[in-house]
Amino acid sequence: MTNFWNTKVEFLKGIGTQKADVLGTELQIFTYKDLLYHFPFRHEDRTKVYAIAELEPDMPFVQLKGKLTNIEMLGDDKKSRLVAHFTDGTGYMELLWFQGASYLLKSLKANTEYLVLGVPQFFNNKFSIVHPEIELLVSLTSQTGFLQPVYPSTEKLNRRFLGSKFIAKCVQNLLELANFSIPENLNSEVLTKYRFISRQAAFKNLHYPAHANALHHAKRRLKFEELFYIQLKMLKQNKNQKEVISGHLFDKLDLLNEFYDKHLPFQLTNAQSRVVKEIHTDMISGKQMNRLLQGDVGSGKTMVAFLCMLMAIGNNAQTCLVAPTEILAEQHYHTLKEYADKLNITIDLLTGSTRARVRRIMHERLMNGNLKILIGTHAIFEDKVQFENMGLCIIDEQHRFGVAQRRKLWEKNIDLYPHILVMTATPIPRTLAMTVYGDLEVSVIDELPSGRKPITTAFRYDAHRLRVFAFMKEEIDKGRQVYMVYPLIEESEKLSYKNLMDGYESVSRAFPDNHISIMHGQMSSVDKEYEMQRFKKGETQIMVATTVIEVGVNVPNASVMIIENAERFGLAQLHQLRGRVGRGAEQSYCILMTKPELSKEGRKRIDTMCKTTNGFEIAEVDLELRGPGDMSGTQQSGVVNLMIADLAKDGIILQEARNTALAILEKDEHLQHPDNKIFELFLSIQKENDSVWSRIS
Ligand code: ADP
Ligand code: MG
Repeated sequence: MTNFWNTKVEFLKGIGTQKADVLGTELQIFTYKDLLYHFPFRHEDRTKVYAIAELEPDMPFVQLKGKLTNIEMLGDDKKSRLVAHFTDGTGYMELLWFQGASYLLKSLKANTEYLVLGVPQFFNNKFSIVHPEIELLVSLTSQTGFLQPVYPSTEKLNRRFLGSKFIAKCVQNLLELANFSIPENLNSEVLTKYRFISRQAAFKNLHYPAHANALHHAKRRLKFEELFYIQLKMLKQNKNQKEVISGHLFDKLDLLNEFYDKHLPFQLTNAQSRVVKEIHTDMISGKQMNRLLQGDVGSGKTMVAFLCMLMAIGNNAQTCLVAPTEILAEQHYHTLKEYADKLNITIDLLTGSTRARVRRIMHERLMNGNLKILIGTHAIFEDKVQFENMGLCIIDEQHRFGVAQRRKLWEKNIDLYPHILVMTATPIPRTLAMTVYGDLEVSVIDELPSGRKPITTAFRYDAHRLRVFAFMKEEIDKGRQVYMVYPLIEESEKLSYKNLMDGYESVSRAFPDNHISIMHGQMSSVDKEYEMQRFKKGETQIMVATTVIEVGVNVPNASVMIIENAERFGLAQLHQLRGRVGRGAEQSYCILMTKPELSKEGRKRIDTMCKTTNGFEIAEVDLELRGPGDMSGTQQSGVVNLMIADLAKDGIILQEARNTALAILEKDEHLQHPDNKIFELFLSIQKENDSVWSRIS
């Protein structure tokens, strides 16, 4: 079984060692399995022949039947092209070739019936097809009437005639092998429940479906199986983990109650209280907590974090909070110190800029348990940083840290692993969270503190800059502050810097009476902190910056966010930036400045931002536009390397797959029941393959 699967493709009819080499280097196709998993990206419908009169602009690939009338070579030697007039009695169109023209000129015959395949273009009021496939009709009768697979290929393969058509032929040969056999990996209960076709049939139909419906069923089955096994594996691991790992028991709530009754600066939102309760339940469960806290920007995650810290400290444990940047760590430090001082709880800050002497003292106080709260950057991950009794690690803005780093925090207390709380402001669509963070429990703060006015968002072309400046002036005169953010230009750091400086200059000229801060990545953290503090204290009215201010910066009096070259930002980033305003009681504004020409995608991003402030809605659109591989935080997790399922579109299948996996594990968590042995077997085959691959690559 596994042998067939792992047979090298060179042994397949029509391939041989040389071609196999090229397939391997170009497409990573080495085995029968790789070939079967090289899915066509579309199928050409050869079941229908269109008439030229039926064509409409924006049609996909079509098939036409007709005769060539006039075949001629146009242009000079270097830039020659072949133009053929084609008619089927219902209309005329042009066929064009820029390559292989002289060969075709010799072989194409006028007044003979051809079958023409391609994507029609509508230009100057007439249709044409560039580089169509063209075949004599007689030789094709046997091939018409099915969906022809089209495979991803490369330039090099196409040049050697090993492109899509060749691959299609190879797959056909493979499917026709007498011993062709693909083992089933779902049990009959699941197959019946969802009316899935067999795995073998699914692979056949995915490549060579008889009709569109067969293709649909094949895809549905294979998507399910892919997502099901990801979920099964993750949920099973999670169950095992939960059983084995015990955690700190934080059941004394005196300290938390003291703060709650005497010092809480505002009433918690319902969502905040709910989440605090969820976390508390974890902390008295006796098991180690691994929880993801999702909350949109401004939803008040910091207070939740602090209340959880009090649970730990009230039970004689220490806590730490790790932030992705120094600015953020400092900000958290200042916020939390204010709260901690009220209860005389010790708190300190550790970053890359902390001096060695200060560090040494800090290390000591951590070791003897005198220091209860440590706020910092990844400096906390260092092995030298050891605690007397670490009980709760909180990570802010998860997407900057990987799973491996989370593990490092576990090791801060090897006697009893600390509870882990990961906080993220990047709203992760449900489908993605289920797949990527399946090993974490998820809590959501889905409510903003009351009294916030929704941010008004608008977009303006660069040409209207003067009007935008006038608006800024109005707001500044009312006593408000303004951010102006410039994108990092990936191609060139110099260009980013120049862009920012040009902006700074023009703002300086337009606002001679105001003080202006500037902040960018090349500044030292001391300088950055200095500028940040000036802006925070209201000594400057405008903050001109690159995206260094993106995450978490909190200046409630800043009510206007201007984003320059907004088309260069992704949706998630735009949303994060906008979240810097709307933190006080004033009406806030976000103005997206763009150049006049926008791509379709750029336009959709801008429109989405103007339409909604709901982070989850924005994340859904983002997922749709960019696909999961691009979503922040998903790359390093490695699980969204999907062959066929598409998280942006297959949410329902994912839900079904997850429910099925949950139900199976609920009844039989070790997969020992005879009906479930098949799952256990397939998981172990996967594991074996994974380890083979990790050894090779
Ligand atoms: P984020 O979730 O983005 O980290 P923060 O914790 O920084 O949000 O909170 C944003 C602002 O809202 C802070 O100024 C905080 O003091 C305030 N805040 C948090 N919770 C509440 C609440 N329940 N009521 C009023 N203001 C709150
Ligand atoms: Mg925050």
